[in-house]
Amino acid sequence: MSVLVLGGAGYIGSHMVRRLLDQGQDVVVVDNLVKGHRAAVAPEAKFYQVDIRDKQALSEVFEKENIDAVVHFAAFSIVPESVAEPLMYFDNNTAGMVTLLEVMKDFDVKKIVFSSTAATYGNPVNIPIKETDPQNPINPYGESKLMMEKMMAWADSAYDIKWVALRYFNVAGAIEDGSIGEDHGPETHLVPIILQAAAGQREYIEMFGDDYKTPDGFNVRDYVHVVDLADAHILALDYLAKGNKSAQFNLGSATGFSVKEMVEAAREATGVNIEAKVGPRRPGDPDILVADSTQAREVLGWQPKFDNVKDIIKTAWNWKEKHPNGYDDRK
Ligand code: UDP
Repeated sequence: MSVLVLGGAGYIGSHMVRRLLDQGQDVVVVDNLVKGHRAAVAPEAKFYQVDIRDKQALSEVFEKENIDAVVHFAAFSIVPESVAEPLMYFDNNTAGMVTLLEVMKDFDVKKIVFSSTAATYGNPVNIPIKETDPQNPINPYGESKLMMEKMMAWADSAYDIKWVALRYFNVAGAIEDGSIGEDHGPETHLVPIILQAAAGQREYIEMFGDDYKTPDGFNVRDYVHVVDLADAHILALDYLAKGNKSAQFNLGSATGFSVKEMVEAAREATGVNIEAKVGPRRPGDPDILVADSTQAREVLGWQPKFDNVKDIIKTAWNWKEKHPNGYDDRK
């Protein structure tokens, strides 16, 4: 039996593939390579270049492979892009989930672990955020993912497809051997942008807004190491394999760091005096997003190994130093 990783050529998906292989699992990857990198997929995994909205091609994968469970990372995830192109997000993310669930139903595959997001909460009413807090997304990305969660819930009641939604906060770092890492084109995420400045590929990092309601005025996020995040998916697969009911879990460290603190941590991690400037706020950024991930710890038994951002950034820097321009196959 194999685990199917949808979006396994992406940043988080490729780390998941490596962790599953480490555990001796058979892994099948489906990715359309619109954002992902073929070189990110471990050679031991079977690879299909398929778009999840292509029902026939996806069905052929399920026909050929003996799929036991699905882990779904194949979605667009950039907030400003979703605001500019909402239909692109509802098509790829939300409509893609319809096709996926139809094919899972056709082939009697009953388990799915899904990449959800803190963006489903919108502006938080409590900090830290609990799974039971209201979900009122403030952008199409968060809305598309919330709709996907709801679809899975109805597919559970109608077809008994069990699901775990893992709501990520901010993900950073790279596998410790530096062989795979974060490489988006164009890059929008904080840690890789800070490291571009450290590597001399940009003059400075622009910190978006210094007038947030936080102790230093810079907005605060909760950063988790990508391997710890992947390991939570493995625990979620075990949880479903044991016949447990569908559930949602926040994945965060419970400690928030401001943008300025992240720049300072990156200076320490790299030894480079990275230049930083204050710029205007980025639209749609809440002041603070910090997770309460007690449920993931207690129910799944999740124990993140990385508990400080400097160590997380060091692993991202290791990848950056080994691959200054990311994957050679980048488009
Ligand atoms: N950020 C920043 N400068 C950048 C990129 C990001 O100040 O060049 C800030 C952004 O406003 C947010 C945090 O860094 O507070 C994390 O942003 P990122 O895009 O990495 O993740 P998001 O929180 O949007 O998922």
